[in-house]
Amino acid sequence: MFRGCHKIGQQCGAAGARTSRRRKSRCVFAVRLALSTAACLLAGAIHARTAYAYIGPGAGFVFVGSFLVLLVTFVLVLFSLLTWPVRCVARAFRRRKAKRRHQDVGRVVILGLDGLKPELAERLMDEGELPNLARLREHGTFARLNTTYPSISPVAWSSFQTGANPGRHNIFDFLSRDASTYMPVLSSVEMGKVDRSLSLGPYSIPLGKPSIRPMRKSKPFWHILGEHGVSSCILRVPVTFPPEKYRGVMLSGMCVPDLIGTQGSFVAYTTRDDIRIEHEGGAVVRVERNGNVVNAELTGPEDFLKKRGGRLSVPLKVVIDGDGASAQLNVADQSLKLTKGRHSDWIRIRFSAGLGMSVSGVCKFLLVEANPHFTLYVTPINIDPDRPALPISHPFVYSSYLAKLLGTFSTLGLAEDTWALSEGVIDEAAFLEQCYTFHDERERMFFNALGRTGEDVCVCVFDTTDRIQHMFWRYLDKSHPANRGKDIEQHAGAITDLYRRMDGLVGRTLDRLGKRDVLIVMSDHGFQPFSRGVNVNSWLHQNGYLALKDGAEESGEWFSSVDWTRTKAYAMGLGGLYVNQKGREAQGIVPDGDEKRLLKEELIARLSGLKDTGGNRTGITQVWDSADLYAGPYRENAPDLIIGYGAGYRASWDSVTGKVGAPVFEDNKMCWGGDHCIDPRLVPGVLFSNRRIDPGENPNIMDIAPTVLAAFGIEKPGYMDGKPLEFERESGD
Ligand SMILES: [Zn+2]
Repeated sequence: MFRGCHKIGQQCGAAGARTSRRRKSRCVFAVRLALSTAACLLAGAIHARTAYAYIGPGAGFVFVGSFLVLLVTFVLVLFSLLTWPVRCVARAFRRRKAKRRHQDVGRVVILGLDGLKPELAERLMDEGELPNLARLREHGTFARLNTTYPSISPVAWSSFQTGANPGRHNIFDFLSRDASTYMPVLSSVEMGKVDRSLSLGPYSIPLGKPSIRPMRKSKPFWHILGEHGVSSCILRVPVTFPPEKYRGVMLSGMCVPDLIGTQGSFVAYTTRDDIRIEHEGGAVVRVERNGNVVNAELTGPEDFLKKRGGRLSVPLKVVIDGDGASAQLNVADQSLKLTKGRHSDWIRIRFSAGLGMSVSGVCKFLLVEANPHFTLYVTPINIDPDRPALPISHPFVYSSYLAKLLGTFSTLGLAEDTWALSEGVIDEAAFLEQCYTFHDERERMFFNALGRTGEDVCVCVFDTTDRIQHMFWRYLDKSHPANRGKDIEQHAGAITDLYRRMDGLVGRTLDRLGKRDVLIVMSDHGFQPFSRGVNVNSWLHQNGYLALKDGAEESGEWFSSVDWTRTKAYAMGLGGLYVNQKGREAQGIVPDGDEKRLLKEELIARLSGLKDTGGNRTGITQVWDSADLYAGPYRENAPDLIIGYGAGYRASWDSVTGKVGAPVFEDNKMCWGGDHCIDPRLVPGVLFSNRRIDPGENPNIMDIAPTVLAAFGIEKPGYMDGKPLEFERESGD
């Protein structure tokens, strides 16, 4: 989703006055931010009861908030404030140099609408539903934007940031695998543990903080802009956690964990005994009802202080009103009224660990039902943006600044709770309300940032487009297996409504742009139905490439019954297939060299064009040798083969988690009925812009970073694989 034009968003007659106003507002913004930082740090020092803590899945908490740290940071902020005028002057010099070549570019604004599909946008533009995007198409650019292999958000947005192919940025999927255990690991970040601790009675006080290491390599374009004196405001771009230091402000996006260190775990408290306790993406807790009262515990992160471990929790009490339409909730010394079917506001929960230390999270509550059964849904506990338990923004206090200015907001990477809907804990109406509430938070942040952006760069990624399409695609396809037994009318217009709303966002953005501002609206991939799943591991098993332990006929998650000593290949994640390579995998048997090459060729030949056994459609269009797809120092971390599924297909739910034994092809009956983790040629993204670009450019998502650099007269660095797209100069009329 990227592009350009000439006559759009020209609101400003007095560009000079506006520019100086922008500069002034930028300075005011910087000063306010610094003051807010100082205020936060002072507050932190006074309320030393709150631990500035770091988290890792299973690693527990460590606090680093010693008074010394706070003091040093405060001094740095003060220094930063005092030297601000000097740095402003130095920066102006650098900027003049960088912008010598492109006087017709003011701000560069990028709106990322994750998953916006060009074919659907085109149809709705033709039908007159999307007037603002249609204006961009008419006066600027509308093009397909080629995406990465595989066409998965973390991979594609990493190429967006760096202008590089995955072989250089090292992100090949959501998950990668630990070759020593065959277990999955999150591809984008590595959480370390703390080695040393101080034993003090029942406490084990961690000394130091665990490392949080970004696994995305290469350099995002905003780092390079910063080196040339151009600052950037980067909001919620996927794979920006942990936040890195550069010239500008950033709020991290996809891959930020929740407070317990997962990618999002809801909880549902219920009196029902007819629903499963085991859920994907969350937990169901059975509760007893005593008259109108339900008592339970809200469980938080691991106890980071006590030797016996366990998890921190706070008591939770619900008193159901007589008519069952509302209830009074008491949690963590707060009391609020819940209305059935309506999400509550964000509630701050402070989990005390002892020794005066606590950690803070925020969550929302939804009374799903009250009579005769009681069910209360709680969102994943998000990291509190006002008192972040780990860094989710740059500078560290930026999230706190936003929370103080605009109110609390969702910080979780995958904030929209698709699992709760998939598992039937919340319904579609509740899911939509949640999505748009989070979207509105993001919009407020974006417009706040845009208003404070001088002749610099402002980027914001909106995820709602991706999540709603995943969950409502079934409505676009009457024959979708997910429709069986479900209503197919109530939200039939959900996706059209989504596109209309995004068009409104584009319109509001255009209203705020000046004549010289460049707007790019882009998506990282498109969408297709996901009606049939392909279990590649089952295919590998049936065809003699993957062996099960003696006596086993199938395997549970993560290859629990796989006999690695007789297995040549296995699939993991959404698009990858690995050879069980000798000397690389813990129990690898296939030697590198000719034997591996022949095996890859054989698998490519047999899997490419694989037909669905339940019909004659093509389940897998093509399989690629990753050695042919990628170039760069991290190529060897890629899966050996990348699988391109046909339209309507995707890796089955079981295949992704390393289960073996189900049929190779099966219906996808989950609400998650649309997807894009398929042959990337079938799911290009969109590129819109208020400037014209040459339609012959055949743009790729890797082109955006060099294009932004070029707009500021900066040569693209050698590691960028993309090419700068030539924008037509602003016409001046
Ligand atoms: Zn998606």
